[in-house]
Amino acid sequence: MNHSREEIANLIKDLEGKILVTTHKNPDGDAIGSSLGWHNFLKRLGKNVKIIYKDRVPFFFDFLPGIEEINVKEEITEEFDWVIITDVSELKRTGFEDIPAKKSIVIDHHITAEPFADYSIVEPEISSTCELSYEIMKLINPALIEYPVALPIYTGIVTDTGKFGYNNTSPTTHKIAAELIEKGIDPYVVTKNIFERNRIQKFKLLELVLKTLDFSIGNKVAHITLFKKFLEESGAYPEESEGFINYPRSIIGVEVAVFFKEIDENYWKVSLRSKGNVNVAEVAKRMGGGGHKMASGFETRGSLEEIKNKLFKELELAIESAEFERMDRLP
Ligand code: 5GP
Ligand code: MN
Repeated sequence: MNHSREEIANLIKDLEGKILVTTHKNPDGDAIGSSLGWHNFLKRLGKNVKIIYKDRVPFFFDFLPGIEEINVKEEITEEFDWVIITDVSELKRTGFEDIPAKKSIVIDHHITAEPFADYSIVEPEISSTCELSYEIMKLINPALIEYPVALPIYTGIVTDTGKFGYNNTSPTTHKIAAELIEKGIDPYVVTKNIFERNRIQKFKLLELVLKTLDFSIGNKVAHITLFKKFLEESGAYPEESEGFINYPRSIIGVEVAVFFKEIDENYWKVSLRSKGNVNVAEVAKRMGGGGHKMASGFETRGSLEEIKNKLFKELELAIESAEFERMDRLP
């Protein structure tokens, strides 16, 4: 059941015992910003809190206060009274098979969410889990949103809105950003650390990946591929491919961009990005994943050829129905 912001705020305010905060595997800015923001906030609330992830934190988040307190573990063995899971509503996406906590709370903004938690708040319209977290923290105690809480929250909003450029950016998003800047956040600290620290290896990887650029469905779909061997060839980290998918999406005439990433032999992570007309959340859902209308993804086993065949059929249907919808809307 989905709870209100007030209900979640009251619940968190009165939490007792050992609290764990976690998020999804391969954590991005919103995942790290929201979970670390909550960790730092709960400490200020006087709670006993730990933060554990399945996967390590990409180096460009190392400027965030409290980042050194994040534990990376294959599995969680310690028992907790509560777990707060941010930016994800499926247990499987945390990367953990089991989280030994008596009660769970999910704070998220994904439309395909089927929350498994005891208490959850999922707001698909909001820009980011960080924006939602900020609103809930404000209800608990705005004075506790100090710099170490504000910086991760601001960071997650910046990354999940594509620097306030995607259509999930609302007037409230900007108002919250303004409040965070008033609290002492320097936007350039975030920009400099996340976007101005590229390693040359990243560009070597980009070169290899862009060479795979190909088109399908009448050039409406552009796709790129990262074979595992490219990581060895370039010396890049997997997380340095973040943002590559924006290149194929930006091409004139392209409606959907696809990024195939080889995790292991016959095991692929696929990202989808739409220019706005095609709902890629639906497509990802049918492929076993989920996400937002304009950004979604899934993981799957099989050969690249098999995955492409299945996915392109789904995309063709999604593009056709999007075109029908647009024709309906014409005067
Ligand atoms: P990315 O392509 O950057 O990994 O993910 C973009 C968005 O797609 C994420 O914010 C998330 O909502 C969704 N997403 C990506 N991979 C998966 C997946 O394996 N399962 C689900 N349910 N959603 C995913
Ligand atoms: Mn998010």
